[in-house]
Amino acid sequence: MESIYNLDLESLKEYFINNNDKKFRAEQVYEWLYKKRVSSFEAMTNLKKETISMLNEDFSIKKLELVLVERDVDVNKYLFKLSDGEHIEAVLMRHDYGNSICISSQVGCNMGCKFCESGRRKKVRNLETSEMVLQIMQVEEDIKSRISHVVIMGIGEPFDNYDNIIRFLKIINDPKALEIGSRHITVSTCGIIPKIEEFMNFPLQVNLAISLHAPNDELRSRLMPINKAYPLKELIKVLKKYTEKTNRRLTFEYILLDGVNDTEACALELSKLISGMNAYVNLIPYNTTENIQFNRSKTIQIMRFYDILKKNKINVTIRREFGGNISAACGQLRSKEEC
Ligand code: SAH
Repeated sequence: MESIYNLDLESLKEYFINNNDKKFRAEQVYEWLYKKRVSSFEAMTNLKKETISMLNEDFSIKKLELVLVERDVDVNKYLFKLSDGEHIEAVLMRHDYGNSICISSQVGCNMGCKFCESGRRKKVRNLETSEMVLQIMQVEEDIKSRISHVVIMGIGEPFDNYDNIIRFLKIINDPKALEIGSRHITVSTCGIIPKIEEFMNFPLQVNLAISLHAPNDELRSRLMPINKAYPLKELIKVLKKYTEKTNRRLTFEYILLDGVNDTEACALELSKLISGMNAYVNLIPYNTTENIQFNRSKTIQIMRFYDILKKNKINVTIRREFGGNISAACGQLRSKEEC
């Protein structure tokens, strides 16, 4: 049965209109779901009996099953079981500016990036909008506090699940639902060009992050097979168009892999590639995983790489690290559970 958490407010209004009920019911239901956080339709006491039984017939209001939480000082990792028995994970990070969550968008992933643990398992299916919304709601319930920032950087490629992501963004941003500011939401993609183009027309000012990880096609195609379909030149071209048109924040993520993409030549090439773009680079110290052969760059090399970008007037930061102790690196908790 379809989950009630799949519906953005407009769709829920349409549903009531199509069922000869009042449009304002949608707002009432939203208030119960997202503000009062009830867990049954019966608890929605300002609805008529007939409306409640109609909702019960048409929708499920079930939550995800929370299987495991690993807790550390400023990071929690959550493992959820879905109704078909699949597992997904979400990571909560406490910052001085608020709580942020990293959510998954698919079960498995087809992008096949060579350094990534999640990609070792092919895509099984897309997550439904509700399964993404509930990751946030249930973590908020666990920490008894609001989440202010959302990144879609967990398992999966969000632009390979585009329609559900769009609905998800509408719901979490809606002041009548989770009310998370658009500038506090980041969608991360490996660079699926047609979807970046489509995303330009989406009305919310959400942030976009591009997993770049290499400054030239030869190396990028080796690390990220998707680069063969959407090579760098075209990617950069569409991104320039994207920032011009939307004025939204654009970030390049760049994992530093020892001896692979962390040389001074790579830093120079990267500076050239993105020079003049209104974008940020986020350097990511690689989280090593048992099953994959890459190593993390040495700290001195990370600093050198950083300095070269700075010298070339690129906005650059080094990502603060979370969760090394609790297998919070992409896909690791799920792997532990299932292998
Ligand atoms: N498919 C999307 C979102 C999921 S990956 C994308 O490609 O952006 C989120 C980020 O984590 C990506 O930048 C990815 O390259 C990075 N990542 C994957 N494995 C990692 C690891 N072991 N250590 C550090 N970052 C990793």
